[in-house]
Amino acid sequence: MKKLLPTSTAGSLPKPSWLAESETLWSPWKLQDQALVDGKKDALCVSLHEQQQAGIDIVSDGEQTRQHFVTTFIEHLNGVDFENRKIVKIRDRYDASVPTVVGPVSRQKPVFVEAAKFLRQQTDQPIKWALPGPMTMIDTLYDDHYKSREKLAWEFAIILNQEAKELEAAGVDIIQFDEPAFNVFFDDVNKWGIACLERAIEGLKCETAVHICYGYGIKANTDWKKTLGNEWRQYEEAFPKLQASNIDIISLECHNSHVPMELLELIRGKKVMVGAIDVATNTIETPEEVANTLREALKYVDADKLYPCTNCGMAPLSREVARGKLKALSDGAAIVRKELSV
Ligand SMILES: [Zn+2]
Repeated sequence: MKKLLPTSTAGSLPKPSWLAESETLWSPWKLQDQALVDGKKDALCVSLHEQQQAGIDIVSDGEQTRQHFVTTFIEHLNGVDFENRKIVKIRDRYDASVPTVVGPVSRQKPVFVEAAKFLRQQTDQPIKWALPGPMTMIDTLYDDHYKSREKLAWEFAIILNQEAKELEAAGVDIIQFDEPAFNVFFDDVNKWGIACLERAIEGLKCETAVHICYGYGIKANTDWKKTLGNEWRQYEEAFPKLQASNIDIISLECHNSHVPMELLELIRGKKVMVGAIDVATNTIETPEEVANTLREALKYVDADKLYPCTNCGMAPLSREVARGKLKALSDGAAIVRKELSV
């Protein structure tokens, strides 16, 4: 019988201090050339080991091979000029220096496929791989060529589909698209955002997921959260269309957030990765706190479709805190699993 409540993480995990600056998001690499190539592989093994030690069921590379969840992918594409940077407002929230689209975009070569093959060789457990979603990609760029967010998103969807098919062939079990932008641009999400996502997963036989969160625990995000009021109903906007989409799994921020849990009823029937670990605090959840969040989610998600997870990536945390949180997730899921089995 399939294990109930299989645990996983939303994505990134801390990098070892010999590879990148600790507790720093988007830190530059500390190694170069072949040492960097080897260092990333070593870090992937360390990260996998830490997930396994904590008892995580669906494992990932901990995003050890990328600096940024969007730009590392974009760096590998034709048509994007990284020298010619512009300041844009990311997700209507904070300014960032981003590359410029100067011509037709295309994928020169596979981006993460070698790393995914390497991860596949290290474990027989199910593996999940994260890619940026089309809408979040266009939001992390200045477009000087297509002059249309929608047009560029469709181009990225085609490119992501090429990459996703090769990741599937490399043995990835779940391909996840990170779409924090789905929590911001509601009109576009419903007009073309979800359609672009479905283009990105076209023809895939492996499982697919979309991760929609309120962001890493950085100041721009925590300040934004303060403006959202007591009830965060952003998910309500995209859920009806997501429920009707071909996406298999929806990954959400739930623990310590002001998202009313009953919104999950809107995606009944989908598998849900329920964020039961807060990534914006160093306080390690107790297993009982994790279990409480999962029990609450179980009112709206069928037990065979509930995947305990983290709210978002844990890259900015210390390794010790991240390890503690992984263990809490695992132990909390075990409590509820036991309750369900009686
Ligand atoms: Zn996230």
